[in-house]
Amino acid sequence: MKVNRRSFLQLAAVTAVSSAFCGLGFETEALAADRIAMLEPKWSKQTTSVCCYCAVGCGLIVNTDLKTKRAINVEGDPDHPINEGATCAKGASIWQLAENKERPPRPLYRAPYSSEWKEVSWDWALGEIAKRVKKTRDASFTEKNDKGQVVNRCNGLASVGSAAIDNEECWTYQAMLRALGLVYVEHQARICHSSTVAALAESFGRGAMTNHWNDIANSDCILVMGSNAAENHPISFKWVTKAMVKGAKLISIDPRFTRTSAKADLYCQIRAGSDIAVLGGLIKYILDNDLIQRDYVVSHTNAPFIISDKFTFNDGLFSGYTKNGDDEDYVGAYDKSQWAYERDEQGLPKRDESLKHPRCVYNLLKSHYARYDVDKVVSVSGIDKDGLLEFYKLFSATGKPDKAGTIMYAMGWTQHTVGTQYIRTMAMVQLLLGNIGVSGGGVNALRGESNVQGSTDHCLLWHILPGYLATPNAGLPTYREYVDAKAKPHLQGAKDPKSAAWWQYYPKYMSSFLKAMYPEASSEDAYAWLPKAEDGKTYTWLQLFEAMRKKEFTGFFAWGMNPACGGANAGKNRQAMTNLDWMVNVNIFDNETGSFWRGPGMDPKKVKTEVFFLPCAVSIEKEGSITNSGRWMQWRYQGPTPRGESKSDGHIMTELFDKIRALYAKEGGAFPEPIKNLSVDMWKTHGEFDAHQVAKLINGYFLKDVTIKDKTYKKGTLVPSFALLQDDGSTCSGNWLYCNSYTEDGNRAARRSREQTPEQEKIGLFSNWSWCWPVNRRIIYNRASCDNTGKPYAPQKPVVAWNGKSWIGDVPDGGWAPGTKYAFIMLPNGHGHVFGPGRQDGPFPEHYEPMETPFTKHEFSNQLNNPTALRFAREALAVADPKYPYVATTYRVTEHWQTGLMTRHTPWLLETMPQMFVEMCEELAKEKGIENGEKVMVESIRGSIWAIAMVTKRMHPLKVMGKTVYQLGMPWCFGWQMPHDGSGGDSSNLLTPSVGDPNTGIPETKVFVANVRKL
Ligand code: SF4
Repeated sequence: MKVNRRSFLQLAAVTAVSSAFCGLGFETEALAADRIAMLEPKWSKQTTSVCCYCAVGCGLIVNTDLKTKRAINVEGDPDHPINEGATCAKGASIWQLAENKERPPRPLYRAPYSSEWKEVSWDWALGEIAKRVKKTRDASFTEKNDKGQVVNRCNGLASVGSAAIDNEECWTYQAMLRALGLVYVEHQARICHSSTVAALAESFGRGAMTNHWNDIANSDCILVMGSNAAENHPISFKWVTKAMVKGAKLISIDPRFTRTSAKADLYCQIRAGSDIAVLGGLIKYILDNDLIQRDYVVSHTNAPFIISDKFTFNDGLFSGYTKNGDDEDYVGAYDKSQWAYERDEQGLPKRDESLKHPRCVYNLLKSHYARYDVDKVVSVSGIDKDGLLEFYKLFSATGKPDKAGTIMYAMGWTQHTVGTQYIRTMAMVQLLLGNIGVSGGGVNALRGESNVQGSTDHCLLWHILPGYLATPNAGLPTYREYVDAKAKPHLQGAKDPKSAAWWQYYPKYMSSFLKAMYPEASSEDAYAWLPKAEDGKTYTWLQLFEAMRKKEFTGFFAWGMNPACGGANAGKNRQAMTNLDWMVNVNIFDNETGSFWRGPGMDPKKVKTEVFFLPCAVSIEKEGSITNSGRWMQWRYQGPTPRGESKSDGHIMTELFDKIRALYAKEGGAFPEPIKNLSVDMWKTHGEFDAHQVAKLINGYFLKDVTIKDKTYKKGTLVPSFALLQDDGSTCSGNWLYCNSYTEDGNRAARRSREQTPEQEKIGLFSNWSWCWPVNRRIIYNRASCDNTGKPYAPQKPVVAWNGKSWIGDVPDGGWAPGTKYAFIMLPNGHGHVFGPGRQDGPFPEHYEPMETPFTKHEFSNQLNNPTALRFAREALAVADPKYPYVATTYRVTEHWQTGLMTRHTPWLLETMPQMFVEMCEELAKEKGIENGEKVMVESIRGSIWAIAMVTKRMHPLKVMGKTVYQLGMPWCFGWQMPHDGSGGDSSNLLTPSVGDPNTGIPETKVFVANVRKL
C-alpha cells in the first residue's frame, strides 16, 4: 500500500483515536471518526499549554473534545520560539498521560495496618487530614526554644514538594506551610539544582541560568559536561545544532559516550567525580597561556581585589577549619571571616588593577591552581591527554572579546558533595574568559522539571522565602533586626557610588512579601508569625529523612513527589515512613511513596502509617504559569476538565486550608493568628482557587495611594515593577522577582508575540513572547557584554548597546549610563566573584574524592574528601572497599522523567523503555562472565537491585592513579509500583548514599561505589 502524508496522518489518526476512546468506552464512534476532522473547531477547542516534563518549556497545542471535555490531541506549538512545533517523546505523549485509566478518580485512604486502599470522598478525606494537621500542630507547636528565643514553630510536620505544580500553586503552598509553622519545607530543587543556586548566586549574584535556550545558537563553543542534553533536554539540542551549523564546536565530557557525545566534535571520557580536577586544569591552562579577557576581568570581576593575609591554603584545607564530632551532621566547618578582602578606610575592598599585587585574587588563583598540571589531571580523571589538551584549546579560544563559549550542565555536576564547587569552577572560567552577560555565553543550568525554576523562585525550601529572602532564624527576633542584618553588607558595598548593591532594598521586598501573606498585619507582627529556624541548624532533604528516621514527625506531606524512589538512599526513606502516624500523598497516580507500606520488604500488617492519596489534575487540565530553565514565565490554559473527581493542586490546597482554618475558628488551638490572618481570600474568585488572583498577588498591589516621582498610583492597582515596591507597608508583592509579570497592561506571561526589534532579532531574544524574570531581561548581567563606553565587545551579536541616550536590545541589567555602575548589581561590590568568600567549603574550588571512592588518596592533597561534607556518621560508607570496587553513576533517559512515575504510566513510553538496566564496558562484562541482556544484581553497601546488563563500547576502562577503574551507569526512573507486575525493576536510589554538599545538602547521587554480579 502506498502511504502519502495525508493518508498516513489519517491512518495514525484512526489508530490514535481508537486507542484514546477505547479507554473511555466510545470504541464504535471513535473508530468511525477522522481524527484530523476532530481537530476542527466544530468538534474541539484548541488551547495552548507548555510541556509538563523538562524545563526547556516547549509550547503545546491541546485539542479538547467539545462534547466529552476530554483531550483528543496534544502536539508541539509551531509558533513557539523554543520548540517551533517539535516535541520529544515525552511531550508527544502528554495526551496519553491525561487520558489514562490508571489515574485514581477519587481520593484513596489506607487505614493503619490495613493491606488495601479504600476509595473515599473528598469531603471526608480533607476533613480527616485537617483534623490530623491540627492535632499534630497543636501537640508539637513550640513557641520558645531551649534558649528562650521565640521560634513559633511546628516541629511535628514535614513537607516535600513540588516542582511539578504551577507558580501560583507553589506560592500558595509555601504560604500555607509557613502559616502552619513548618520549617522542614523541602522539594525537588534541593536534590536537583540547589548547588546551582549556591554557586551562581555566589559567582554572579543570582542563582539561575544566565542565558536562555534560543541563545545557545549564538555560541562559538558549547561545552556539555555534567549533562546529556541531547537525551534529557532534547529540544534544547535544536539550538546546539543551529550553533553547529554556523560553525560552533561541541565538546562532550562525560563518564559515558552519550547521545550528546555522538554529535560532538570532541568527546572525552572521565571518571565520575573528577570534574574539578579537569576544570581546575583548564583554569591553569588559561592563566599559564594568558588567555583571559583582560579588560573584562579587570572591569567586571574581583580578580584585582586584595585578600587578607589570614587567608591561606595548605594541603587541601583553607584557613579557619575546625573538625566536628561524629554527633554533628557536617564533617567540619570553616570560620569564613579569615577569607575577607583587605579594606580601605571606607570599608571598601582594596584593588590592584595591574593584577601584580601578590595577594590579589588573580595571583592567589594562579598559585592555587599551579598544582593542577595536565599529568595530574589525567592521572586523577583518567581522561585521554590529547583530548584534554584539545578541550582546553577549543574552550579557552572563546576568551577573545568577540567570541563566546557556553556550558550546559545538569545533575552530573550538581549532585556531589562538591556540587556547588563544580559549578563555581566553571563560573570562574567563564568570568576569566569574559563569557558572562554575553550572547552565546553564560553558565546554563539545565533544569529538569517543568517548573523547578519557579518552585525555587517561590522557595518551597527551608532556607528561603519567595524571591530568595532569607528564612528568619531565632537569633533575629524582630523584623527590624532581621532586615537590618540582611541589608547590611549591601549598604556597606553601596558606599562605593559605582556599586548598585541591589540587595540594599531588601526591606522593601520583605515588607511587601509579609503584606502579601498577612495584608492586615504590621511588618513586626507578620514577621513574628513566621516560623524561625534554629541558629546554625539546617533542615535539608537528607536531614528531613534523618529526622523522620528518628521519629521526630507525626505527619508528612509528599506533594507531587516520590521520595521512595527519588531521594538518595531511598531504602532509608521508605523505612522512615513507617515511623509516621499519617501521610498525605498528592499525585496524578499512586506511587512508591503513597504505597510504601505494601512495597518490597514491607508487611502492611506491621505498618501503622495512615495514608491519604489525593488525585490531582494533569497540567493541561488547569490554568496557571510555569517558569522554564531560561527564566521564561509561560502561561498555560485549561483544555480538558480534571479527569474523574481529580482537582487542581491549587484547589486541593485552598480547600484543605479552609478546613484547617475552620477547625481553629471553632476549637481554638496553638498560635492561631497566622492561620486566621493568611491572605487566602485574596487567592480566590467566587470562593474557589483562581490562578489569576494568585498571580496578581505575586506581582503585587499598591495598598494605598502612593506618589512616586510625581506619579500617583491608586490603591488597588498592580505594581508595575519591583523598583516601585515600598518598605512602609503601602505595597504588597508575594515575590518581588515576579513584580512586573502581571500589571495593569495584563498578564505578561501569556504574551505570544514573536515581534522583535532588529537588535533583538539579531540574537533571538523574543522579548514579547511570555515574560522573563527579572523585569523581562532575557540575558542577565548584560551590561558586562560592553566596555565602559557601552560598546559591545562582540558587535556582531550585541545583547545591549548604548546609543548615546539609552540602552537598546535587551532590558539592560541596570539602566544607568555606561561606566557609571558596575555590572554585577546583585553582589555587594558589583564585581563577579572569581574568589567566592561566601561558600562553606572554600573560596576556590578544590578536588576532593567523592565520599565513596575506590581510592584512599589522590594527587592534589592529603585531604581525601570534602572536609565540610554533610553525612551521618552512623551510616557506613564504602571507601576502597574490595566488596564494592566499581565507580557507579545514575542518569535519566529520554523516555522517562525523574522517578518515572508519570512516564511509566504512559504506555507509549514504557513500551519504548520498559525496565531497569546497567551499562558496563565489555572488559568488565568479560571479567564477570556477563553477557549483554542478562539479568544481573547491582549492589552497594546500602542495598541491591536487579538490572538488565547493557554491555557496551560506550564505556571503557580508565587508568586512574595507577589503577584500572570500571564504571557502571544506571537510570533512576524505575520503581516497583509500575509496571504492576514488577517487570520494571526498582530505583537505583536504593544504592545511593545519604551524603551531601555542605552549602546546600544536595545528595551525592551521581557517584558512589558498587559491585555487579550475574544472577
Ligand atoms: S520533555 Fe522537555 S524537550 Fe521534551 S517536549 Fe517536554 S519540554 Fe520539550
